[in-house]
Formats: sequence, C-alpha cells, structure tokens
Amino acid sequence: MNGEHVLLRINLSDGTCNSKDIPLSTLREYIGGKGLGSRLLLDEIPPRCDPLGEKNKIIFVAGPLTGTSFPTANRYGILYKSPLTGTYAESYSGGGVAQKLRASGHFSVIIEGKASEPVQVHVREHDVKIKSAEALWGKDTLETCDVLGATTNRDLDVLTIGPAGENQVLIANVQNNKFHSAGRCGPGAVMGSKNLKAIIFSGNKRPALNKKAQFKTLVRDVLQRFRDNPLVYGREGVYRKLGTPVIVDWANKLGCFPTRYYTRGYSDGWESINADAIVSQILKRRVGCWNCPFTCGKLVEVSQGPFKCEIEGPEYETIANFGGLCDIRDIRAIAKINEYCDRMGIDTISAGSLCGLAIEAKRRELIPGLKDIEISYNAPLEVLNFLEMMVKKKGIGEEFSMGTGFLERKYKLKGLAMHVKGLEFAGYDPRAFRGFALSYGVAPEGPTHLRSVYHGIEKDLPNRTSYEGKVQPMIEQEDKMALIDSFIVCKFIRGILDWPLMARMYNIIFDASITVESLRAIAARMVTASRQFNYREGFTRDDDYLPERVYTEPLPRMDGTGDSHRLDKESYEKMLDEYYEARGWSSDGAPPAEPPRIGKQTDLTQPQGDSNR
Ligand code: SF4
Repeated sequence: MNGEHVLLRINLSDGTCNSKDIPLSTLREYIGGKGLGSRLLLDEIPPRCDPLGEKNKIIFVAGPLTGTSFPTANRYGILYKSPLTGTYAESYSGGGVAQKLRASGHFSVIIEGKASEPVQVHVREHDVKIKSAEALWGKDTLETCDVLGATTNRDLDVLTIGPAGENQVLIANVQNNKFHSAGRCGPGAVMGSKNLKAIIFSGNKRPALNKKAQFKTLVRDVLQRFRDNPLVYGREGVYRKLGTPVIVDWANKLGCFPTRYYTRGYSDGWESINADAIVSQILKRRVGCWNCPFTCGKLVEVSQGPFKCEIEGPEYETIANFGGLCDIRDIRAIAKINEYCDRMGIDTISAGSLCGLAIEAKRRELIPGLKDIEISYNAPLEVLNFLEMMVKKKGIGEEFSMGTGFLERKYKLKGLAMHVKGLEFAGYDPRAFRGFALSYGVAPEGPTHLRSVYHGIEKDLPNRTSYEGKVQPMIEQEDKMALIDSFIVCKFIRGILDWPLMARMYNIIFDASITVESLRAIAARMVTASRQFNYREGFTRDDDYLPERVYTEPLPRMDGTGDSHRLDKESYEKMLDEYYEARGWSSDGAPPAEPPRIGKQTDLTQPQGDSNR
C-alpha cells in the first residue's frame, strides 16, 4: 500500500481490522465523501437489512481535500442506512475531527458487526485498538469528550454518541468537537445499535499532494474570491458577523418560517430569536471549524436562571424548529434546549418538529397518550421535559422517539404530520417555494435543505412561486452540492465555487484533465447512486410527494395573504415528471437497473492486508 488513501475496516463482532489502499482510479471515479460513500453503501449493505441490525454498516469518509490547506476542508461524512426512514442516508459535520481522521492515515473507515458490550475505538497511525466503554456508557457527549481528552489534548479528536444514541432513539446524532453534529437520519442510533460509544482519531500524517505549486495557486485564488465578496465572507461579512440565524429575518418576511407546527409562515416573536438577539444578549465569542477563515459559529452563554448554559449555537435550523414550530420566543431558552439536544445527541431539527407535532396533536386531542402531558406553545420548560421523555423513551416519549412517520401511521395523522419518507422538514416551509419543494420531495433521505440548497437561490427569484423553469436549475444545484459533499468542503463557500473552479480542483488533486461536462456526469451519477439504493429498498415515486397539507392548506403570511403559499398537486406532478426524465429515470422514479460499478481491480469490499491489527 502507498498509504495515501487507506480504507480501514473494523469488525466489532470479532474485533478484527484490515485496511487497503483505495486506488487512484476509484477516487477519480468517485472523488471521496458522498461519491465514494454512496458507492460503498451500495456495495456493502445488503438490501432490506435491518438498519439497527448487525448487517447495517457505518461508513465514515473524508474528501480528497480534507486536512489540506484548502479553506473549509474540515468535514467528514457518515453514510448508512437510516433507521428513521429506511433510506440511504448521509450526514456531514465540521469542527476538527476530519482533519484528525486523515492525520491518522485513513481516508475512510467502515464499521461493521456489533460489539457484545460497549466499546470505544482508537484509530491511530499503524494501530487500531478496541477498548471497553463501560465507564463512558450513560455519559452525555460533552462529558465524553472531556473524559477522552478531546478538549485538552490537541493530538486527538473524538466522535461520540450521547444517551439518545445508546437508547437507539431514531433521531440520534453523532457529535464531534462537542457542538458539531452529524445527524438528521439517526447515525447515532446505528452506532448505539453496535454498542459503539466513541471513535478517537489521532496522528500526524499530512495528505500528500502531487501538484504542490498548482495547489498553492488554487488556494490563493480561492482566498482571493473570498476577499472579492466582503459582504459575505469578509470580517464584517454576514457569515462571521451574524451566521445562519440571519435567515430568521428573511424567512419571516418571505413567509416560509415554519411556525406553530406549520399553521403559519411567520412568528410574532421573530425579532426576539434572530441573529441580533443572539449578538446583543448571549454572544460570548465567535468560533469556527479547523482551517476556516470565517468563524461563523457563535459561542454563547446564559450565565444564570433556568436556561443557564454555554454552547456553540443555536443555528438557524434549531431556531426555526423550536422558535418557530414550538413558538418559543426567548433566545436564551432556545440556547438551553440546543445544549440539551447536543448533550444527549439528538437532532435539533427533528426534535423540534416532533415537539411541535406533540403540541398540536395534544391541542387537537389526536394522541391519547398526550392527555396528561404538559406541552404547549412558547413553554420551553415543558419542551425540555418532553425531550427528556424522548431521550429516555419514557411513556409516550418512546413513540415520539421513533419519528413523525411512525406517529402518522399509528395515529392516522395524515392531515397534520409533516414529513417526507419519515424525515421531518428542515427549517423552511415548502409552500413558499416550488423548485425547492421538489428538492424536499426527491432528496434521498427526505426533506433536508442540504441536498440542493436551492431555497437560497429561489427566494430571490421574481418567479419564486412559479413552477416554470425550476427543475433544471434545481438539478444544477443538486449536482453541485453532490460534488461539494464529495470534495468535502463547507457548503457556505458554495457562492465562490463554480463548475470551472471545481474542475480545476479535481484536475490538480487527481492529476487529471477532466472537462466540466465530464464532472457534471460524475455528479449526476452520484445522485443516481443514492436513488438506486432507495429503489432497492422499495422506495418509488409514491415516496416523493409532500404531505397533503401543502396542497390543501394555504400558509398565512405576515401581510395577511397566503394564497400563493400553497402547492398545486398537478403542477408538482409535472415537475416530478420533468425531474425524472432529466435524470434518466423512469416515470415511476426508477433509476437505471444498476449504476456504473467500479471495476474488479478497484473492488473495495474484499480485505487486502494488515488484518487483526
Ligand atoms: S463557514 Fe462556519 S461551518 Fe463552515 S467551515 Fe467555516 S466555521 Fe465551519
């Protein structure tokens, strides 16, 4: 092995490990991150396996830029079959752990099997150790990071689950660097099902680059692009100064801020939970991920009272789901809830949405088990109590820990529950959009904003609520995001990444001469690979529709109107047809029988050496 791009396989059932090189030809075909991970997912995970059973696997993967001086190349991906949705799932997280994954000499780590008792895995250069985690089991994620030295020892970094993952709550996250989360589809529950509490990476290996001079020029040109966009990326730019909570303002004005469990598109209290509220009331200092010039994160502190806490956050999605859907109008309370979710290791988007559903289902008397539970709008202490019931699977909390799709089926909540494929919506009501609404529908794991991020473009279009001409631009964004998640860099720099620049990145990294057209084909194939996985699991066109409410209930806006904020089902159908055709899928949404496979010489499913390290 040349040791540059090593795939490490750890079997928790028998305690064996082996590793092999990922050939350059494979990386040229799949790049890394999403591209490589989705290929591995198709090859490694048997069809229709139990997501919480021994046969599901967790695939950690870096990108070819990870650990280099390329700004924001500080993220790792986790790919797995979701226990929440039963679909393909991918989660990405920043912080610093991805750099340590590569410093440990590895590019991807596959965890398979199941340990008979709680374990932690230490991955170092030339050495992997599986050790007992009995003493860590039950500790929250912040405590676990402290015990493992992740906050005191700069030579190592930790990924961990909290009590929610241990209890296999289906919205459990994986946390790293304390406040960074890889989540949405329950990767923490998959780790918990394997009795895997934490992975520690350490090492000093630096990624080798063939074209050092060209790479240096590339980084210089990227930094220049940031300087050319000071309003976005400058010291006083929007990311550093305000971060994602700045979205609270435009989302309310546009009428897509999901409020009181999707009964309105704005909150009466939005000015008490926006970026200005954070900066003026609780900001301690600005913080950022490894090798990022923007420091878009906010370390905040509530120094006393029932909401006493210190965390990095809250980000827009957390504010939208607790401040909007649960109508909590106190930024300090949202910070406290955010801290609880991070400590326990649950996804704030799904958790906020499930609390909003509980509030509205109780008001409408739709779930008998909620009768004696105190949960209502703008009542943060009640929400905190309900979250604890979910994390500990106490009473009706156990059913809510299984997600909105489960609750809809059990209690016949079709007229209320908001989800696609079982996943709760990100922080934008789809009724305010058209192309982005389609993106919510066709995203492989359900309505995440991150597969296309098309809302960021569509919100400014004069024809925002028109269906015409939306499919191709949305596909363009989906393909671009597939590449960003494969190189893996932060999506916040998407504004300076265009196709020619991404082709240049590819050619420098892989010593190649790819055209933009061929790069687009690689990206489109990645999207089809995720579809292939889902189709194999039984997902079809029927699963790409949004909930009935978005076609039947107009969404009231701040100015008293709302008629344009409703989707027309027939027009949505036409967008779906156009989307499938453009992707080369059948009218039922079936992708080609088998996406192009890597050749035998690049088969990564068989061990090569270094077994039983
Ligand atoms: S822009 Fe923010 S989220 Fe992205 S890498 Fe930088 S600090 Fe991390």
